[in-house]
Amino acid sequence: LVSVSGLAKSFGDHEVLRSIDFEVMTGSVTVLIGPSGSGKTTVLRSLNALDLADAGVVRIGDVEVDFAGPVGKAEVATLRAQSGMVFQSHHLFPHLTVLENVTAGPVLAQRRDRAAAEEEGRELLRLVGIADKADAYPYQLSGGQQQRVGIARALAIRPQLMLFDEPTSALDPELVGEVLTAMKDLAAQGWTMVVVTHEIRFAQQVADQVLFMDGGVVVERGTPEEVLTRPRTERARQFLHRIL
Ligand code: ATP
Repeated sequence: LVSVSGLAKSFGDHEVLRSIDFEVMTGSVTVLIGPSGSGKTTVLRSLNALDLADAGVVRIGDVEVDFAGPVGKAEVATLRAQSGMVFQSHHLFPHLTVLENVTAGPVLAQRRDRAAAEEEGRELLRLVGIADKADAYPYQLSGGQQQRVGIARALAIRPQLMLFDEPTSALDPELVGEVLTAMKDLAAQGWTMVVVTHEIRFAQQVADQVLFMDGGVVVERGTPEEVLTRPRTERARQFLHRIL
């Protein structure tokens, strides 16, 4: 579904990504791990066109953008529409209910029928385990519940690909599990996902492939067993030793 080749990005003279290559199969889960500053977030933001790469080709489904040449606004918008992004924390609209937050994208941006969007929104809230909160307001929810609304909101635009940027790192420890459970359910339903996380157990249980990044390159790529249990490089071994 996704292929990334030769992706490069600098901020000023800081080279954050140096020729990243990987592929993501439809219905699979890819977990990106690596030390702080290794470029994981920038990979996600490049897939979602929140950051525009300096070079490289990103393909998601039928949409392909070559960042080596000039990239138009329409191309950026088309690429962005292919994926839904879940951030560390969500700025939900405080004056809208949970269901209205979830349907805002489909109804206002995609001009879909409101009744159909609401029905689908309720289904998505069920999927992430908060169907009973549809009519609540964000301030009435815990951090874990808000995060699950954020996931439902990203799903509601029907992206081909779901991107998660450390979705549990801003949560109190006791709330992490419910968000990871929702993500496991999505994986089981066949959503294609790319996840930046330090939750190694989640990676072991759910990932089809794990990419270990360091210094803007993919240092190791393989199954969770290969990368997490039997890392080949000293850099990966040291990183895993530090976080486990
Ligand atoms: P973390 O786990 O800390 O989020 P990361 O692996 O996701 O790290 P990135 O967030 O991709 O790393 O950042 C990689 C490097 O790029 C960092 O050194 C960061 O300071 C730098 N960087 C990211 N975004 C920008 C920006 N908009 N302007 C300047 N530098 C940036």
